[in-house]
Amino acid sequence: MKVGIVGAGMVGSSAGYALAVMGLASSVVLVDQNHDLAVAQAEDIAHAVPFLSSTIVEAADYVGLAGASVIILAAGVSQKPGESRLALLERNAAVFKDVVGNVLAVAPDAILLIASNPVDIMTQITQRISGLPANRVIGSGTILDTARFRSLLGRHLGISPQSVHSYVLGEHGDSEVLAWSNAKVGSLSLADIAAQVGSPITEHVRATIDDGVRNAAYKIIKGKGATYYGIGAGLARIIKAIARDQHDVLTVSCVTPEIVGVKDVALSIPRVVGAQGIETDLMPDLVSAERDGLEKSARLLKNSVESIRL
Ligand code: ADP
Repeated sequence: MKVGIVGAGMVGSSAGYALAVMGLASSVVLVDQNHDLAVAQAEDIAHAVPFLSSTIVEAADYVGLAGASVIILAAGVSQKPGESRLALLERNAAVFKDVVGNVLAVAPDAILLIASNPVDIMTQITQRISGLPANRVIGSGTILDTARFRSLLGRHLGISPQSVHSYVLGEHGDSEVLAWSNAKVGSLSLADIAAQVGSPITEHVRATIDDGVRNAAYKIIKGKGATYYGIGAGLARIIKAIARDQHDVLTVSCVTPEIVGVKDVALSIPRVVGAQGIETDLMPDLVSAERDGLEKSARLLKNSVESIRL
């Protein structure tokens, strides 16, 4: 399978590296308006490939994306000093108008995988610009937040995160909702497993894990300026579900006709992902506080999208 990546910055190149490590794609093509950067990133990743897999990694112009099954959109501009969030959003929307037009001209059948932030809003904008069916425009959403939630819960309980089934819903951002009420480990509820292993989930533990998930990116940005390895691997994980038609349950973002009473909004809930993109939504049962939180998150995203001039 051929995978395209538009935006060869930290996130795009990390996704390219993760794809090469996992050997998921026969070919990865990097495109960036800064072509020299795309060439440098492609060569650096290509030099790692002999130790990892047989993926061909190269830089190209948009025409090089022809035939790609999935194209990651990781292009974007960063906030100028004093620039409002809305002004930044409008500039990124303009970048995407350009990028999505160029991509669709050469790869009209590709699934688009959005990584640029704010990812839920960029996903909704991309769906609107592209006119593609919503299930083929997928945002990385809370895939990473869910991974962090599972990892922190698993660490507390002494259980592999891969055996922890818990989800972060809503916006990839401050209003996200950790769905504690339906978290399971194996087939046990959290209360049961916590009692069994003797590690109770106290209010303090909950608050610490909530903070660890919600503020992880802020802490990393404070220390090193940006986050990219985690999301790079998360993007590759979504592509694995598509490439191998795995029907995996992942928390990804997608324009959804209705969620907790809010119509036509992109956010994350668990969804089944396979070769055709998103196949089914799996809306979890929530307690009322979680439901209210999700509704708040959905309304916030919807209001942001409606305020953008395209
Ligand atoms: P991140 O950390 O999100 O990856 P970067 O700034 O490192 O952010 O990367 C964003 C990349 O997007 C940059 O390499 C930039 O050149 C690229 N980019 C910005 N606008 C466009 C565009 N219109 N077309 C293609 N690439 C673009």
